[in-house]
Amino acid sequence: MTKVTRFAPSPTGALHIGGVRTALFNYVYAKQNKGKFLIRVEDTDAERSTKEYEDNILKGLSDIGIDPDEPPVRQSERSELYRLAAEKIIESGNAYWCDCSKEALEEMRKEQESAGKKPMYDGRSRNLGLKRSENTVLRLKTPKDGNLVFHDLVRGEVVFQNSELDDLILLRSDGSPTYHLCNVVDDFNQGITTVVRGEDHLSNTPRQIHIQQALGYPPLEYAHLPMVLGQDKKRLSKRNAVTSLQDYFDQGYLESSMINMLARLGWSKGDKEIFYLDDLIVDFRIQEVQKAGAVFDPVKLDWINNHHLAALSFDDFKERLTPFLNSVEIDLTQKQNSNKIIEAMRSSKPTLLGVAKDLVPYFFQIDSYDEKAANKFLSGSEPVLEYVQRKLNKLEAWNEESIDHALQEAQTALSLPTPKLNQPIRIAMTGSTQSPSLGLTLSLFDLVEVNNRIDAALKYLAHST
Ligand code: GLU
Repeated sequence: MTKVTRFAPSPTGALHIGGVRTALFNYVYAKQNKGKFLIRVEDTDAERSTKEYEDNILKGLSDIGIDPDEPPVRQSERSELYRLAAEKIIESGNAYWCDCSKEALEEMRKEQESAGKKPMYDGRSRNLGLKRSENTVLRLKTPKDGNLVFHDLVRGEVVFQNSELDDLILLRSDGSPTYHLCNVVDDFNQGITTVVRGEDHLSNTPRQIHIQQALGYPPLEYAHLPMVLGQDKKRLSKRNAVTSLQDYFDQGYLESSMINMLARLGWSKGDKEIFYLDDLIVDFRIQEVQKAGAVFDPVKLDWINNHHLAALSFDDFKERLTPFLNSVEIDLTQKQNSNKIIEAMRSSKPTLLGVAKDLVPYFFQIDSYDEKAANKFLSGSEPVLEYVQRKLNKLEAWNEESIDHALQEAQTALSLPTPKLNQPIRIAMTGSTQSPSLGLTLSLFDLVEVNNRIDAALKYLAHST
C-alpha cells in the first residue's frame, strides 16, 4: 500500500532538532515506499502559535531538502471539518454533553488523589442525557472495559487498558474542537496511512484510536520514535543543548550533516556513519529504530560535519564558506593566493564559521598573540626567530618545499626539538599554534610579510621583557 506520512508541528517555537528528526523519518519512510510526505501545521493554540514560527519551521525543513508533496495545511483553516466530525460522533451516540463545573472536577481530582487513585474524569455525566448549552463540553464515550492494542513499527505491540483512559473532551464549551479531535480528523482527511512521531505522543494514541473508531475511520500505522536526549541524558532542551536548527546553520554546519546526524539519532546501520538523504531513502528501516532514548552528541556532529565539508568540491566549499568570510570581513580579492589559503585551511575546524575565523590571520595583521601559546613558546625564542628569518631571506625560491628544507636545516643547526623551532614562527605568523604544516603556512605569505610578522614578534618580545 502506498504510504502517506505527515509532520504535524505546532508553531509555538522555532524548528528544533527533535522536530527535524521526526520530519526526516516521516519523509524518508514515505519516499522509500514511493508514497507522499505531507505537512500539517497544528496551530489551534491561537495564543502560542505564530506565523513567524510557522515560516521558520517550513523554511528550515525546506533548507535541508524536506519539502512536502502538497502545500501544507493549517488547522486554523479547517474548523468546518472538525465541526462536521463532532456532529457525526454525536449522531453515532458515541459522545455526550457534560456540564461538570471546574470546581466539581477539582473536587473529583482531590478525592481520587487522596484515595490513592489516578485522577481522571469519572464519567458522571455519561448517562444524564444533557442537552448542549453554553456550559457543556462534548466528551467521547470511551469503552470502559478491555484493552486497546495497536502495533507500533518501533515498539511492537502496545497495550493500554481502557479503564485507564477517561472520557476525553472533543468540543470545548465555546464549541472549539480539542487537539485530539483535530489530529484524528486531519489524519483521515489528509489520507494519512502512517503516523511517525515522538514517543511523548504514545499515550495519546489509544485516545486518538478511540476517536477514529467512533468516526468509523480506518486504522493507521504508528511509529513512536525515541526521545532525543542531551549529553546529560535528559530530554533535549535549550538547557542542555543548542536546539534550534538555524543556530546550527549559523555556525556553518551543512544541511547534509544535520540530516546525517539526525538520522543516526535512534537508528544505525552497522558501522556506517556517513549518510546523505538519498542513502537514507535506500538504507533506512523504521523497524530498526531503537526504543531507548537517543543522545545528541555535539562532538559527533563535528566529526560528521568534517566529513561532509571534506566531500565538497573546492568550488562548493568556497561558495558555502563565503557568507562566513563576509561575517568576519574577509575580502578574498585582497590576496592573490586566496584559493591556496582556503585549500590549506579548509579542514582547520569542523564548522564553516570556525574555518572563516581561522582564516583571519591570513588576511589581516595580527593584533595579539594567543596568550598561553605566547607564554609557552614565544618567550625566549628570539634566537630561533632571528636564525630562521636570516635563513628564509637567503632562499632562492619561495615555495613550500624550499621553506621546509630551510626549516630542516635550521632545526639540525640549532639542535632543537620540532615544537621549539616551529611554534614560535607559527605564532609569529598566525597568532596561535594552530596552522597547517609550517612550510605550507609560511608559503601562504610572501617574504615581505614573513619578515614583517617575525619583526613584529621580536618587537613584542623586546617590549614584554
Ligand atoms: N503537533 C504535535 C507536536 O508538535 C504533533 C502531533 C502528532 O504528530 O500527531 O508535538
